[in-house]
Amino acid sequence: MQVLTTREALISWRKKAQGHVGFVPTMGALHEGHLSLVRQSLTENDWTVVSIFVNPRQFGPKEDYERYPRTPEMDTRLLQNLGVSAVFMPSESEMYSPEDEFHISATRLSRLWCGGYRVGHFDGVALVLTKLFHLVMPTRAYFGEKDFQQVRIVEKMVEELFFPIQVVRHPTVREPDGLAMSSRNAYLSPRGRAQAVALYKALQYLHALTAQHQNTAFLIEETLRYLKENYPDVEVEYLAIVDEHSLEALEHLRQSARPRALIAAYVEGVRLIDNLPLSPVP
Ligand code: AMP
Repeated sequence: MQVLTTREALISWRKKAQGHVGFVPTMGALHEGHLSLVRQSLTENDWTVVSIFVNPRQFGPKEDYERYPRTPEMDTRLLQNLGVSAVFMPSESEMYSPEDEFHISATRLSRLWCGGYRVGHFDGVALVLTKLFHLVMPTRAYFGEKDFQQVRIVEKMVEELFFPIQVVRHPTVREPDGLAMSSRNAYLSPRGRAQAVALYKALQYLHALTAQHQNTAFLIEETLRYLKENYPDVEVEYLAIVDEHSLEALEHLRQSARPRALIAAYVEGVRLIDNLPLSPVP
């Protein structure tokens, strides 16, 4: 496995890689969720490139950029064992310059849900992915449904800006109790970890309710009541029922052929997200 730290090294590696190239962009602190994307890429492409870059532009000033977990030695060992062709681990100055002026922004999709609370977050994601896509020139790029709004924004960006890349979605990988795997789970104490399963439990509770109720205001209110009663330490930022494609809120499940519930909540000050597809009204 080639460990590449400069754009120049990546570009020259890419020139030699003939055939299909799969790309898995990450911020490192790799867990089974990331590795599962990597395995899919390995089966579908001749070469797989993984990037590890904690992108400062997608963190707000009061967010966890400084304390975000960084485990480069462990990450490279895991990727090497899987048979990854190359890992790209650039420094901040390799990706950004103080003279940079450009900025990629979606007018609507980036401002909904997480984007409303993490202002500028998705612009930072779009910018770093634009740069990485130009360097890696992948055939396919792999994204987890765990970050559902992110994968929709990437799909829209690739389509609208004519990137010749196929975006591949990978289902959310969960812990045995249902908690979506996330590098941020490492911040939780054992008590917080036990409370964190609340997000998935709430989504399941909501999903079960849809057999009887399709009015989304009712579903949300009832699920919030369930959360408050069973997981008092969990502070919900938003719970929404949206159309999976547009990410617009629904009033009634019958308004969408592909409804999905999205949740963001804080546990011990750690921001966690999750989502679940809902059954459409027949
Ligand atoms: P991150 O390192 O958090 O930026 O994540 C890198 C990629 O891994 C993104 O496409 C995420 O959606 C994906 N990912 C992270 N956690 C999971 C998970 N539990 N299941 C599936 N994909 C995931």
